[in-house]
Amino acid sequence: MNTSPSNRKANAFHAQAKNALNDATLKQALRSATDTFAERRSAAIAAVPDWEALREQARLVKDATVARLDHYIEQFADNAEQAGATVHWARDGKEACAIVQKIAEDNGATRLVKSKSMATEEIHLNKALAERALEPVETDLGEWIIQLAGETPSHIIVPAIHMTRDQVGELFVDKLGIPPSNDPKTLCAHARERLRSHFAQADLGISGVNFGVAETGSILILENEGNVRMTTTMPKVHVAVMGIERVIPRFKDLEVFLRLLPRSGTGQHLTTYQSILTGTDSAQDSANGQGPEQVHIVLLDNGRSKIAVDEKMRETLACIRCGACLNACPVYQTVGGHAYGTVYPGPIGAILTPQLAGMHEAKPLPFASSLCGACKDVCPVKIDIPSLLLELRQRAVEGTDHEPATKRSFFESMSWRMWSWFMRGPKRFRFASAMARLGQSMPLVHRLVPPMAAWHSTRELPRLAKRSFRNTYKGPSK
Ligand code: SF4
Repeated sequence: MNTSPSNRKANAFHAQAKNALNDATLKQALRSATDTFAERRSAAIAAVPDWEALREQARLVKDATVARLDHYIEQFADNAEQAGATVHWARDGKEACAIVQKIAEDNGATRLVKSKSMATEEIHLNKALAERALEPVETDLGEWIIQLAGETPSHIIVPAIHMTRDQVGELFVDKLGIPPSNDPKTLCAHARERLRSHFAQADLGISGVNFGVAETGSILILENEGNVRMTTTMPKVHVAVMGIERVIPRFKDLEVFLRLLPRSGTGQHLTTYQSILTGTDSAQDSANGQGPEQVHIVLLDNGRSKIAVDEKMRETLACIRCGACLNACPVYQTVGGHAYGTVYPGPIGAILTPQLAGMHEAKPLPFASSLCGACKDVCPVKIDIPSLLLELRQRAVEGTDHEPATKRSFFESMSWRMWSWFMRGPKRFRFASAMARLGQSMPLVHRLVPPMAAWHSTRELPRLAKRSFRNTYKGPSK
């Protein structure tokens, strides 16, 4: 039996996907949420006459930035430091976690609050901090819900998308001891009451970053709940973890991305809050008792610089993590995020995870797609996800530096050899076509004989024309 890590991952993925397929409540929750987001997105973009031009422009900015990523990230770091922030460089997740741990320990911080951040999920920061008895309280409502449930996010912008409000109500009864309710307002009020006290006592706040502006050293964080603003301004120390691909060259580039991201993600014209933070302003803010005394920005590489020099795959770094491709993907809509078994689910996860974590961690994911192209159609930065999936499939089969080539089964090898042999001579080709026509007139053969039976259980094989093109071209048969 093959027990390699990639094979174990493949087995786990198939088992998780199967479980998800049998979960009717999950399907209902996913369908309702993804349909709502898709409808809102369509309405929001319909009101923007130059939507396609905006997408083009965003992509041009991203391509130009990724082509000179080292330049822009250094410019960002210099300007952030000049504004009073301390910039840390982390080659991988382990280094990034160690940096955050040290900042907390140097400041004697014990009460940590955190806002939603996929970069911190990617490096498993909460787990690393918990090892030092420093568990941050998640303050985004969705993140807080899944922290209470002991789960991981199943969507990159809606972490608890897999839960219905009945399930959230039951969780609150169980964990908070509140009277039963499934009313969103009531549940939010309980969450707000609990979280306020954490903000008031916190001595360190952790956030992610949506965009880092190279020319000013500013970071921009978008949100709807106000928790980011409190996380980044109430504690004396703010630590922002930023993937290096989040840098954009100029402040005016934000005009483009701010029009694209909220509309694509949640269907909003703009998120309720946009926090632009530029270093520390001790002269003004501290005098008013506002803002943190220390701002630390942890610049996370974790495989991104490798992607930046990979000509075929570098467009992955254009992603602005809007989540639209997840909402549009029929696979994600059916099995949800947890089935992927990785931090980043859906189409973006299927291209990002094999590159960040290695093919051995995510070999089945590039294959978990029908290549329908819905993800490409909705992507605000026009990432050609289907082409990247095909490239990764090829790499998965041919092997990479760290992952051996996939061994074909005897049946698959034989099938391809026979196919090749039949294709290499006109008489053989005609014979094979005649046999295929005969086979399709006996449906029971391919519906009952393995492995065709498994394939046919969910699909219909396209039918061959009754007469071949060659025979039709010759004219009517006599
Ligand atoms: S790949 Fe495109 S659609 Fe998907 S999250 Fe990234 S920017 Fe959004």
